[in-house]
Amino acid sequence: MTHSRVWHPFTQHALEPRMKPIVETAGAYLIDEDGNHVLDAISSWWVITHGHRHPAIMSAIGAAAGRYDQLIFAEYTHAPAEELAEGLIAVAPRGLAHVFYSDSGSTAVEVALKMALGFFHNKGERRNRIVVMEHAYHGDTIGTMSAGERGVFNAAYEPLLFAVDRLPFPEAGREQETLDAFESYCRSGEVAALLIEPLVLGAGGMKIYAPSLLASLKEVAERCGTLLIADEVMTGWGRTGTLFGCEQAAITPDILCTSKGLTGGALPLAATLCTAEIFDAHLSTDRRRTFFHSSSYTANPIACAAAVANLSVWRDEPVQARLEALSEAHRAHLTRFSNDLRFRNVRQIGTIAALDLDVEAGGYLAEVGPRLRAFFRERHLLIRPLGNVVYLMPPYCITAKELDRAYEAIEEAAFHFRVSA
Ligand SMILES: *Cc1c(COP(=O)(O)O)cnc(C)c1O
Repeated sequence: MTHSRVWHPFTQHALEPRMKPIVETAGAYLIDEDGNHVLDAISSWWVITHGHRHPAIMSAIGAAAGRYDQLIFAEYTHAPAEELAEGLIAVAPRGLAHVFYSDSGSTAVEVALKMALGFFHNKGERRNRIVVMEHAYHGDTIGTMSAGERGVFNAAYEPLLFAVDRLPFPEAGREQETLDAFESYCRSGEVAALLIEPLVLGAGGMKIYAPSLLASLKEVAERCGTLLIADEVMTGWGRTGTLFGCEQAAITPDILCTSKGLTGGALPLAATLCTAEIFDAHLSTDRRRTFFHSSSYTANPIACAAAVANLSVWRDEPVQARLEALSEAHRAHLTRFSNDLRFRNVRQIGTIAALDLDVEAGGYLAEVGPRLRAFFRERHLLIRPLGNVVYLMPPYCITAKELDRAYEAIEEAAFHFRVSA
C-alpha cells in the first residue's frame, strides 16, 4: 500500500509507515495479501477466543443480518438481547441479576463506574472515590485512563484525568500490604468502589496475583460498604482457565464488565452486569434516578446474536478441555524457560503465558519492543511484546505444533536480543 489516510491505534507512523494488508482470517491465522499465514498468537489483541471465524458464530451473524440491523434500545427490545442477558446471568458468578449493554471494554467500565456512583448518589451517601491497583489498565477513554496506570500513554491528557487511590500490586508474599492499603483508604468512608482486573493485570504487563487476594479484597470491601467492580474485559471467556476469573476466588463482584471475548471476538459488544441492589437503587418513579447512559449502538442485535452463539459454543463444544490442553502445553514449554537466565518472571495463568526478556532497559518504550515485533513478524508470527514482556494469549483452536512454533521463535529471539549474560 503506497499511501494510506488511516491513522492506526498505538502506532507511531513515523517509525512504522506501512501496515500489512490482511485479506482473510481463519482459525488461528491472519492471511496476508501475499498468501502468508500469520499465526495469531495474541488473539488479535485478546478478542478472538475459539478461533477466527468460528462457524457457529459466523452463521448466527448471517442469520441475524437477515432480520436486523441496529435498532433503538430504549422503548424497544429484541430477542437476541433478551436471550443473551438470560444466558449471561446463568453463567456469571451467582448473584448478578441485570445486564446493561454497550459496545467496548472501555464503555463497559465507564458504565460500571457510573453505576457505582449512581448507586451511592441515589442512596444519599457521599461516596465518590475509586480505588484501583497499581499497573491497572481499564481502557482508553478519559474516565478509564484516570483509573489506569499513569505513564507515557496518558501524559498529554493528565490535566483532565480524575484522581483515584492506588493499591500497591500484591507481589507474592506481600499481599498484606495491598490489603492494609485498601483498608486504610476505606476508612475514609468515601470509597465508592474498588475497580480491579481479576487474577491478572493484562496491559500492565501480564502481572499475576493469587485468587485468595481477590477474595480477601472482596471481604474488606463488604465490611466497608464499598462496591467491587471486576473488570473481566480481558480475563473473561476462559483466558485464566475458567469462564470468568472471579470463579477462582469464589466471589461475586457487585459489578462485572465483559467485552473482548463476549462474541468470541467476532463483533464489538460489551455488557456490564450488576446485582439487584444496584439496579434497585436506580428504580424509582422519580425520573432523576434514571441510569443516564446510552451509546448509539447499544445492544446491536447482530452482535448480541453472535454472543448468544458464543454461549452455545461454550455449552456444546469441549471448550473447557481445550483450555486445559492449552494450559498444560504452556506449562510444559515454560519449564524449559524457567531456568533460562535470559528470562525472568516466567509465569502463567490458564491460557496466558508470559516471560520478561532480560534486557537492560525494560518498560513499555524499551527499544527491544519494536525490534522483537519485527523479528516475529518476519517469521509470520503475531506476537506483540509489552516492552520486554513477551506473552502468548492464543485462540483456543491453536494446535500443539503451532504453539511449538511460537515458543521456538521466542527462544530464538532471546538468542538474538539478549543484552545481559
Ligand atoms: C482491553 C481492555 C479494556 C478496554 O477494552 P476496549 O474494548 O479496548 O475499550 C478494559 N479493561 C481491560 C482489563 C482490558 O484488557
